[in-house]
Amino acid sequence: MDDILDYIKSFGLSGTTIRKQIISFLWGDGVALTQKEIEERLPGDSDRVTLYRTLKLFTEKGIVHKIVIDEATQKYKLAGRFRKSDHAHFYCIQCHKILCMPQLNVDLKGLPTGFLFQSSRVVVEGICDFCASKQKV
Ligand SMILES: [Zn+2]
Ligand SMILES: [Zn+2]
Repeated sequence: MDDILDYIKSFGLSGTTIRKQIISFLWGDGVALTQKEIEERLPGDSDRVTLYRTLKLFTEKGIVHKIVIDEATQKYKLAGRFRKSDHAHFYCIQCHKILCMPQLNVDLKGLPTGFLFQSSRVVVEGICDFCASKQKV
């Protein structure tokens, strides 16, 4: 739990119970959950509005990256060491793992003069190395 608290604090936020709970669910490589999946993991007495507000705050602060898979599915994943959400994400269509792809950056130089960048929603779909290796067997 210390790592989780340090992570939250490194973004200048205090570690409330629900914040620590949410981060602990998202902890780990490739883990990405929808708001509903996070809600299901929270204790029954948790407040949905607080969850909604916390995810909004986390997204604004760059603690999590919000990944839009389609209109119905938005997943949250820890930003980890990639603090800026200006990159594409890889989505494995088999195990639903999501990875940050900072090497695939949105080229902001292509933005017309006077336009301001807000966020990008580039998702690369495919099969991850783990799932691909299973297919060969
Ligand atoms: Zn996979
Ligand atoms: Zn990311």
